[in-house]
This record gives sequence, C-alpha cells and structure tokens, in this order.
Amino acid sequence: MTVFPIEQFSNIETPFYYYDLNLLKRTLGIISKIASDNGFHLHYAVKANANPRILETIKDFGLGADCVSGGEVKAAVEAGFAADKIMFAGVGKTDKEIEYALDANIRCFNVESLPELLNIDEIARRKKMMARVAVRINPNVDAHTHHYITTGLNENKFGISLEQLDDFVKTALTLENIDLCGVHFHIGSQIQDLTPFVTLCSNINEILRHLESLGALISIVDVGGGLGIDYEQPEENPIPDFETYFNIFKKHLILKPDQELHFEPGRSIVGQCGSLITKVLYVKEGVEKKFAIVDGGMTDLIRPALYQAHHKIENISNSESQIDDVYDVVGPICESSDTFGTDERLPLISRGDYLALRSAGAYGEVMASGYNCRKLPGSVFSDDHL
Ligand SMILES: *Cc1c(COP(=O)(O)O)cnc(C)c1O
Repeated sequence: MTVFPIEQFSNIETPFYYYDLNLLKRTLGIISKIASDNGFHLHYAVKANANPRILETIKDFGLGADCVSGGEVKAAVEAGFAADKIMFAGVGKTDKEIEYALDANIRCFNVESLPELLNIDEIARRKKMMARVAVRINPNVDAHTHHYITTGLNENKFGISLEQLDDFVKTALTLENIDLCGVHFHIGSQIQDLTPFVTLCSNINEILRHLESLGALISIVDVGGGLGIDYEQPEENPIPDFETYFNIFKKHLILKPDQELHFEPGRSIVGQCGSLITKVLYVKEGVEKKFAIVDGGMTDLIRPALYQAHHKIENISNSESQIDDVYDVVGPICESSDTFGTDERLPLISRGDYLALRSAGAYGEVMASGYNCRKLPGSVFSDDHL
C-alpha cells in the first residue's frame, strides 16, 4: 500500500509527483523474474516516464530501453542503460538523431517507412557502419482501447502495412548498410482485454513464415508494450497481471530457437508507483455544483484533458472522515477541459487539504508543460529525507 507522509509535505511546493519506490521495485522484481526465467528481453518504454531516478531504478534491474526520440536515446545512455539493449522507434527520426544512435551503437532501429530506411542506409554508408533494423509492422489488430492510443490499425501513421511489407523487405535486403534483423509491433496502450494480443501472436506467426520465404533472417521479435493498469482500484491492483500477459506470448507465438522475444512495457511498470499531489486552494459553491479548485492542473497531468482519462482522487488530508460530499475537482488553467473529476464523492474537503491523483506514474510528469507560464511540477521519492 502506498502511504503518503503528509506531515512532511508542508515544506514541499505543490503540485508535485510522489513516487513509491518500493512499489516500483516490487513491480520490477516480478517482471524481471518472469523475463529471466523465460529468456525474454525487456526494454522499458522511456516515454512513459523519463525521470532520472526512475530510469536509474529500472536500469538497475537489468532492463533495456525503448526510445522514441534522440533525446530519449540520450537520456537512456546517460542513465547507464547498456547500448546493446536500446531500441529506437518513431516515425520521424531526424538525421541528427540517426547519427547519434549509430555512434552510440544501439541494438536496433525500429523503422517505420521506406524513405526512413533509405535515409538510415545512406547515413550508415557515410559513416561506414551497419545499421541493425527491425521493421515496424502494422498488424491491423484492433486493441479496443481509446482511439488516440490505438496504434495497430491501418488508418494509423505508425509502421508498415502488410500490403507494403514485401516491397520494404525486398528493398531492405538489397541495401548494403542495413542489417534487417527484426520485426517490431506495438498495437496500442492501456490494453486490459488481452485477446488482441492473442490475435497479434497469430498474425506474427504468419508474418514470420512469410519473411522467411522472402529470405529475411529475423532474430528479434519485438511485440511492443501496451499492457494496461487498473486506474480505478490502484490499491487493490498495484501490480498488473504480468504472468497472464506473458503466458499469452509463450503459448501462442511460434519462434525458432535463435529468435529472441522482446517486450517494451511502459505504463505497466511505472503507472501505479506515481501520484500527483496537489493542494486545495478553494472550495467554491456554484449554483448546482461544488468545486474543489486545486493548484495542480492539466499542465501537470494532461491525461484527463487529452484522453478523457480518469485518475482516482483521494483526499489524503481527511481520508478517515465519515462525512463526505460531492465535488468537481478542477485545476487553475484557463481551459474547461482542465478538470480531474466530476461528481466525485470524497471525504469533506477544506482549503489546504492535499489530494492525491493516483496511478499517475506513466504519461504524467513526462507530459507536463509550461502553458500559462506555469512551473513544471517537482518530484519526491518515498526514500527522500524530507
Ligand atoms: C508507447 C510505446 C510503448 C509503451 O507502451 P505502454 O502502453 O506504456 O506499455 C512501447 N513501444 C512503443 C513503440 C511505444 O510507442
């Protein structure tokens, strides 16, 4: 259970992210044990949370990194991730980013289009290097998640469609500075009904057979991330059911002995360990509603405004109270979408109370912005001496 040391919060400027490092380490212990027992390769998706202490903790458990920009590759290298465990995906890699990643000698580029492949080949040729490449394939699997976080459908900007795969592979096999060694998939995020992963496996089996017939030697099979977390019951389900998730791939994927299975979990590792701590500025009595106006807003945690996500809200200053009331919990930003919850039944709220927005460890701090000339939120760790 995450315990918030609120007596020690008075010296810290709100809003800030509070990270439960014990929970992060327990989560990493479980996922890395399953991976090592099965010979799976894990690459943490840095975009979920790039806080240096989070990266360092994850690196200490031996995971690799999955990056989607040159900046993330740099953050991973600086955090001490082994270069041969770094993957680099993304539809718009710049020349500078490609050069940097080649110089760092990362494991693999996950390539998303033919012009990108040709560009990587040209840059590698100039540097007299070989670029290891996995083709990101769009398997046209519907992940049944929010429209904005579905990535595996044909209408999507990510990856190479099955119709265009042959062309891509045949070209890649002719390029002298490209070593086509892998296939990469990522069908979406916050996936809770796991059946799309079963579909993904059977599509991958077929794709691997086909690529073999084209003469491609595939040693890396990277199935991406996407496992969801329980946003409504973070205390009851602090650690996702990794066992069931991994068993799907164990059971349904048909790999050759020399083919490595790679995963890129993001949210499932860091989501539950973080909370946004915010202070109540005012309790405003509207005509039909009561508003708890807090000092944190969409600039600190944008998920509710961006994808209608809901984070469980707790009044951690008054959690034992028997008296409750119904509030809209809103931030100070000049946008109507700056709302964390509507009609939330919460223990009575007063000015100065601390609220915790739970399950905010993934896509929280890393997406913070300075809109409205606001300061970025700080971060506090459970083992900090406050
Ligand atoms: C975002 C992303 C991930 C991580 O997704 P989660 O849902 O956070 O697990 C993995 N791989 C790629 C290529 C991504 O873009």
